[in-house]
Amino acid sequence: MLYSDNYIRPPNEAASVIIRLTRGCSWNRCLFCGIYDAMGTPFRVPPKEEVIEDVRRARHIYGPDVRHIFFGDADPIAIAPDDFVEITRAVCKAFPNCERITCYGRMATAWRQRRHLARFAQAGLTRIHAGLETGSNDLLRFHRKGISRARMVGAGQAIIHSGLQLSLYVLLGLGGSDRWEEHIAQTVSALNVIRPQFIRFRRLWIHPRCPLARTAEAGGFAPQTPEGTVVETRDILTGIDFPCQVECMHANNYVHFECHLPEERKDVIRGVNEFLSRSNKEKERVYSVRSRI
Ligand code: SF4
Repeated sequence: MLYSDNYIRPPNEAASVIIRLTRGCSWNRCLFCGIYDAMGTPFRVPPKEEVIEDVRRARHIYGPDVRHIFFGDADPIAIAPDDFVEITRAVCKAFPNCERITCYGRMATAWRQRRHLARFAQAGLTRIHAGLETGSNDLLRFHRKGISRARMVGAGQAIIHSGLQLSLYVLLGLGGSDRWEEHIAQTVSALNVIRPQFIRFRRLWIHPRCPLARTAEAGGFAPQTPEGTVVETRDILTGIDFPCQVECMHANNYVHFECHLPEERKDVIRGVNEFLSRSNKEKERVYSVRSRI
């Protein structure tokens, strides 16, 4: 079924047709996450025939002129490579005017499937949205991301060399208040090696039922302050040394912007500094509203 339970997609895919090659997340162990458990969506790979039937139904519902398609859920590139190629080709045939097919994908899965990524691109996949989260090897291990920094960098390079676009998510605050400098320095250096076309900033929000909440309660993680999170944002923008599109527009981000680097760097950093120079009362108002999201 196309929409039988909850799913997540990037904000810029809000108007896209969703074809779900998988349900839930194949990993489901990141310390800061637990989203699919909260939604009650266990990982499942539906039979290929079921997905192709969904493609046929989507074509019946939306007609042939669909421009943007998103493959759900968290890690569809985990399925058998031949099935991924066959489904993608069926989508391109059903929607001949489609301009963009994107999906989420774990970087660990991209590394495992690295020899097939070019086939995915040739079949019609355009872009993979993936969580870098941090470039720090120690923080990746602490947060149980299931991949080392070295493999993270290798996977990112493999995605780009295969001809796919890469949209990487950075999780502000992931180092907490005591390891934020390591988080930011290592994240900037990983990004500068991978050189993704798109970077999206998200802020760590510790859901009360996620495993990180229990770790924090037990004293094993000290959350970053709102002010520190804004400083992290500025420091990453300062350190990126390649052309890319950066987006920081999620409702829970404390500062909002979209920009192209390097052209718009000075203007955006000026805006972030202007925010930091406001009165504490004014900033607290923003922090208290957006901390709840
Ligand atoms: S890979 Fe993504 S969806 Fe899966 S547990 Fe980690 S953060 Fe959550």
